[in-house]
Amino acid sequence: MRDYYIAGNWKMHKTRAEAADLAKALVDGLKGAKHKYLVAPSFTALETVAPIVKGTNIRLGAQNCAQEEQGAHTGEVSVLQLKDLGVQTIILGHSERRHVYGESDALINKKVKLALKHGFEVILCIGETLDEREAGAAEAVCEAQTVLGLAGITAADMANIVIAYEPVWAIGTGKTASPEDAEAIHAFTRKVLTNLYGKDVAEKTIIQYGGSVKPENAAQLMAKPNIDGALVGGAALKAETFVPICKFD
Ligand code: PEP
Repeated sequence: MRDYYIAGNWKMHKTRAEAADLAKALVDGLKGAKHKYLVAPSFTALETVAPIVKGTNIRLGAQNCAQEEQGAHTGEVSVLQLKDLGVQTIILGHSERRHVYGESDALINKKVKLALKHGFEVILCIGETLDEREAGAAEAVCEAQTVLGLAGITAADMANIVIAYEPVWAIGTGKTASPEDAEAIHAFTRKVLTNLYGKDVAEKTIIQYGGSVKPENAAQLMAKPNIDGALVGGAALKAETFVPICKFD
């Protein structure tokens, strides 16, 4: 009932020319591929990548947005500007936004609401740090980030929400959560969604895994019943690694 959804977060990588080359290679490599796909280039490359992926099976994503529609927000990018570029999906609450740039759950929730109001799909990232995991708090952290990130979001809105579980200790470190550890948090998160919205909505919600996903581990992770796809960083920067992840089965 849930299709797999695989997203590539290009972070602060690639000039426009490099982004165009990668986008073209992905369009070719994913022609006829059967799942749902997304690329999230840097803001500076969105206008370049938009016409390349338009009309293909690859959605266009942004990595963040401002919490206000417009105004005096130096250095920020508005949902209106993203819409103008053809962006369809916005990644919010990435651990780098939370832990490097100090974004709070309240701020992330404000952005989630604004993005939904403007018709975007949202990928809401959650995940615990290594200290939190070692203290036995992984579930509590993921529950709080889910509940607070989705505050005020209705069951109907959930059709446009994807959750990405990304244990912070596995992002960009080469350490992947074992499929069993990842599945445990995914199943737990689905229970949290059931408590919030009921079983029907929870069963329909896509929960991606993120954290050093590579061609070698993608199939094992996605074989787990509650892992519905991946949010990929490092391995999304080359078609040679991203395409095999997308075609894991
Ligand atoms: C990410 O940043 O969302 C991510 C999962 O990165 P990586 O795949 O490099 O661990």
